[in-house]
Formats: sequence, C-alpha cells, structure tokens
Amino acid sequence: MADPNGFLKYKREDNPYRELADRIKDFAELQIPISNEERQRQAARCMHCDVPFCHHGIFYGGKRAVSGCPNDNHIPEWNDLIYRGIQKKAYERLALTNPFPEFTGRVCPAPCEKACAEALNGEGITIKDNERYLGDLSNEKGWVEEVGQKGEVTGVKIAVIGSGPAGLAAAWRLNQLGHEVTVYEKSDRFGGLLMYGIPNMKLDKKVVQQRIDLMTSLGVTFVANTEIGKNLSYEELDAEYDRIILAIGAGVPRDLKVPGRELHNIRFAVDFLTETTKKVLEVGENNVPKSLEGKHVVVIGGGDTGNDCIGTSVRLGAASVTQLEITPSLPGERLPNNPWPEWPMVLKHGYGQEEGAFVGNENLTQYTVTATDFTDDGQGNVAGMNLIQVGPGFKNVEGTEAFLKADLVLLAMGFVGTDKDVLEEFHVQETFEDYTTNNPKVYVAGDARRGPSLVIWAIREGRKTAESLNTSLQAVVKNDKI
Ligand SMILES: Cc1cc2nc3c(=O)[nH]c(=O)nc-3n(C[C@H](O)[C@H](O)[C@H](O)COP(=O)(O)OP(=O)(O)OC[C@H]3O[C@@H](n4cnc5c(N)ncnc54)[C@H](O)[C@@H]3O)c2cc1C
Ligand code: SF4
Repeated sequence: MADPNGFLKYKREDNPYRELADRIKDFAELQIPISNEERQRQAARCMHCDVPFCHHGIFYGGKRAVSGCPNDNHIPEWNDLIYRGIQKKAYERLALTNPFPEFTGRVCPAPCEKACAEALNGEGITIKDNERYLGDLSNEKGWVEEVGQKGEVTGVKIAVIGSGPAGLAAAWRLNQLGHEVTVYEKSDRFGGLLMYGIPNMKLDKKVVQQRIDLMTSLGVTFVANTEIGKNLSYEELDAEYDRIILAIGAGVPRDLKVPGRELHNIRFAVDFLTETTKKVLEVGENNVPKSLEGKHVVVIGGGDTGNDCIGTSVRLGAASVTQLEITPSLPGERLPNNPWPEWPMVLKHGYGQEEGAFVGNENLTQYTVTATDFTDDGQGNVAGMNLIQVGPGFKNVEGTEAFLKADLVLLAMGFVGTDKDVLEEFHVQETFEDYTTNNPKVYVAGDARRGPSLVIWAIREGRKTAESLNTSLQAVVKNDKI
C-alpha cells in the first residue's frame, strides 16, 4: 500500500491554476502540472483505506447522483504503484478501466476525491491530477500505444457513429479486441464535445488530436464530415457492417422560448464555444482576435457550460458579462442531509466566474432570475432583456422587474436529449441496461443513452458497450452466423 502516514506527512498539492491576470490573455490550458517527484509524493497520501469509497460509483438520491468514480477506477492500486515508482504498471492498471486518463485527468469533476476517506476531515487526495500525470507520462513514453495494439483480427466490421468520448472508448476497446472499426463523425474534427464544446483552456485540443492520431495508427478508421441519416443511411450501414454503435451524444439544446427569441445574437452556448475553438485552432491560442470588445454579454444558465461561456467571453474582451440562473444559490456549507461521501452541494465559483469577477464584473452571477422577453435594437439584433425574480415553483415575483442590456446572449441551459430522428432511422425504440436495443444490430452508448452527463460516464458506457457487443459476437461467431 502507499505510505499509510503519507496524508499526515505531505500537504495536498493540486496542479496550480495560472495567475488570473496571465491566463485571461490567451486560450492556453489553465493548470500547470507540478513536478513528477511531487506528484509521486501526492500518491503517497493515498492511505489504501479498508473501504475505499473513491473507486466505486455508488448511486444515491434516486439514482440522480453518484458518489465515487462512475467508472470504478481502481484508484488505491494505481496510487500505490505511482508512489512506489512503478509508473508503467500504474498506467496499465488504470487503463484497464479508463483508456483516456489524459482527458479525465483534465476535465473530470472528480467525485472520487469527495468520496475519499481523507475528505472526511480534509479535501481528499489528488486523484484527478495523479490521473493526468499518468495519462501524459504514458503517452510520452509510448505505453498507451503498447496497450492499444490491435488484437488478433476477427474480420467483424463495426460502425461507430459519433466520435465523442463514448464513441472513442468503444472504438478503442473493439480495436484492441481485433475488430475492424470505422468511426463516422458529422463534424469536421473528431472528439465530440472534447473537441468542440469543452474550451481549449480546460482541454488542449492537441491532447484530443494526439489520441485520434494514435487510434488511426493502431487501425481505427475515422471518417469526418459525414452525418448519418443525411449523408449515409441506416440501410447503407446495415449492408456493410455487422454491428452499429450509436454514440451521437445528447446535443439538442434547451431553448428559452420567450418573445424576441428570434433576434440576432441570441445563440446556443455550444455553437459559440465551437466557433471560438475553431478560431483557436486556426490562429493559435495566443492570437484569437478580441471579437467581443465593447460588447455586453449575458449568459443564461448557471452551470459548467455557462462558466465556460464566461471564461471564453472574458478572453474575447467582452465589456461586461452577466450570468443569470433561475434556481437559488447553493448554501456555503454542506447541509446535514448531504453527508460524506456524497458530492457536497455547496456554492463554488468556477474558473470562468473567478475570471469574470477579476476583470471587474460586479454582481456577475444572479440567482432566482429569468428573462421574460428580449428587446430589439431596431435592426433585428438583440438589445437587452426584461428580467423578473422568481420564487418557489419558479413563479414570477411581481414588482421585481428590471432591464438588462445585452449585445450577445448565450443560452447555456442544458440539453433536452439526443437526436430522436437518428434513433428512428435506426429503428431504435428501446434501449437496455447492457447497451443493446430492440434492434439486435444496434447499440447505444454515452449521452445518447443516459442523457447529458460527464466525460467519464461516456467513457464507461463506450467501454462497456464494446464488451457487451463483443460478448454477443462470441455467441454468434460460435454459431457461424457472421
Ligand atoms: C460546454 C460543455 C462543457 C463540458 N465540460 C465538461 C467537463 O469539464 N467535464 C466533464 O466530465 N464533462 C463535461 N461536459 C459533458 C461531456 O462533454 C459529455 O458528457 C460527453 O462529451 C458525452 O460524450 P458522448 O460521446 O456521449 O457525446 P458527445 O461528446 O456529444 O459526442 C457525440 C458526437 O456525435 C456526433 N454526431 C451526432 N449525430 C451524428 C450523426 N447523425 N452522424 C455522425 N455523427 C454524429 C457529434 O457531432 C459528436 O461529435 C461538458 C459539456 C459541454 C456541453
Ligand atoms: S475518472 Fe474522475 S471520478 Fe474517476 S478516478 Fe478519475 S478523476 Fe476520479
């Protein structure tokens, strides 16, 4: 086990965030890794406790929330190996459950750390940063390539639709198992929300592309700019492939259907974030023009996507940013009905909110408020919105009306689900726990199946789908039906 007294000897050291004044000048990554030696000491803080809640996702709150790692990463085992300096083995252990630690080590909210035994009395140990360390080191050393080698060729042909973390995880595992995998993507680049959604400062797009390049070299075929259901039909795929996995995400955004919604410059958050990432990829993380100079931006939605919109708007030079959230602010401290190892439902400020406040936005995030209608500048562009406070049951509180100026409104209110037309085209009416559907040839994984979620959930679903599909093939191959 890692040093049983490590957590007493060493203080927690996160990968530090760059100084606010520095980081808002560009789109480069926010966090700078600490040295490998220090990271090894951090792994020593894992006390290998008897009942490690960190490594097993446990549902609570009517299955709406999870405590611990949703992917059941065997955290104490690989922390011990890091501590003992057996990094390759540590990576191999981690890669058994998580093929993409370089992604989760950057963007996972790390429910594991909140469920860590040390979090009973402290902040938990640094699991996410340790994971990034292993992911980056293993890519550098070529261990990822070793682990990802294609297995004995089976001749089974599988189409994966969608190249987000779910599609990539399925493709990675199926390729390891020797199947012939083709990933179709409607966008011009691969990675799903890892590429176009999550901003570059949270996840450098070079890290995503590096994995796509590696998978290509290991035998996976990637086809871009191909929308299934439009450029290629179910019948065409059905004729060519033995199995099909739909990993198309849950990208249908929630709209705010109030008067004036049709005005120009009222945009969905992911479209805005995608456009910005395309610019970053085109001109480089230091050279993105300040396209929002002099503009007042209002972000509607108080979640993580809203936070990404604030950080992006600040970097694009917005004159002001305001965030509106319809629900009340979370409490400052854990309530008695939200004990460890549950995720602590307490108010926290995201990186974007910190940056928005740093550049002088007062009263940046406003709670229990909504827009009742958008106003016109006379030329079809949004000029602002009328606001009202809401009380219990989201009922308007009369007498609290106000006006807020806006040149750009970003709707970051979550997603309503997946593209039902694609499911219909694939004759999918029902999806099951083992990722199968009523159509025996078709599987569904990731956000498309479970609704808007997290990268690590998508990775788990992709991996598990690959295993489920592979098991079904064994039975079929035995009966000589393929
Ligand atoms: C702005 C934003 C920030 C986020 N930040 C985080 C974060 O920090 N940490 C975290 O854990 N999670 C985060 N998430 C959530 C996370 O990104 C998703 O849960 C995850 O990407 C889902 O993976 P997926 O593979 O199921 O779907 P997606 O990543 O959505 O990928 C689906 C892919 O399918 C493609 N596709 C769809 N339809 C078709 C079709 N008909 N033909 C071909 N291709 C198609 C899409 O273009 C897309 O590339 C964030 C989400 C958003 C929107
Ligand atoms: S994937 Fe997320 S929850 Fe799982 S071990 Fe890594 S940081 Fe923790």
